[in-house]
Amino acid sequence: MIPLCLATAKEIGLITMNNKWDMRFGHLASVVAGWSKDPSTQVGAVIARPNKTIASVGYNGFPAKMEDRPEWYANRDEKLSRIIHAEHNALNHCEHENVTGSTIYVYPLRPCIKCVRKIWDRGITRVVTVTTKEKNDYMLQPEVWERYGLGEAELYLDNMMIRHETIIILD
Ligand SMILES: [Zn+2]
Repeated sequence: MIPLCLATAKEIGLITMNNKWDMRFGHLASVVAGWSKDPSTQVGAVIARPNKTIASVGYNGFPAKMEDRPEWYANRDEKLSRIIHAEHNALNHCEHENVTGSTIYVYPLRPCIKCVRKIWDRGITRVVTVTTKEKNDYMLQPEVWERYGLGEAELYLDNMMIRHETIIILD
C-alpha cells in the first residue's frame, strides 16, 4: 500500500482543498484499504456524515459468508465473480441509516459506474477520491469511460448529479 503523506498531497477538483477533515477521512480510507484480503487491489471507503462523524467503512472483498480463499483471489475470473467493491460494502454497512448529504471517501481508485449509481441513489452527493497520479491517469483513460458510453464530466458532474468530486493526488 502506498503511504499517504498528508504534507505532500496536492488537490485538483471543484472545491478548494483546505478542509482538514477531507485529509483525515481520506487517510482513514487508505488505512481501511489495507484490511482487504485481495493481494493485488486494495480499496477502502469511508462514509462521513455532514457532522464529521463516521457512518460506515468498507473495503473490497468477498461476501461476508463466503470463505476468503487465496486461490480465488489469485484467479482473476474467480475473484471478479465474487468481489464486492469497497464503496458497495460501506453502503451496505449503513443500509438502515439515511446518509443523505454525507461524503464518501475512496482510496486509491475512483468509484466505478455501478458504485456511483448506488452512491447517488443513497443521497450521497460528494465523492472524494484519494489517489496517485499513476492510478488517476489510468482511470481517466477515455476508452475506460467509453465502455460506459459516458464522458468523465458527464459521469461525475452532471448526469449522475454528484455535485462535487474532489480528487486528491499524492506525490
Ligand atoms: Zn465499484
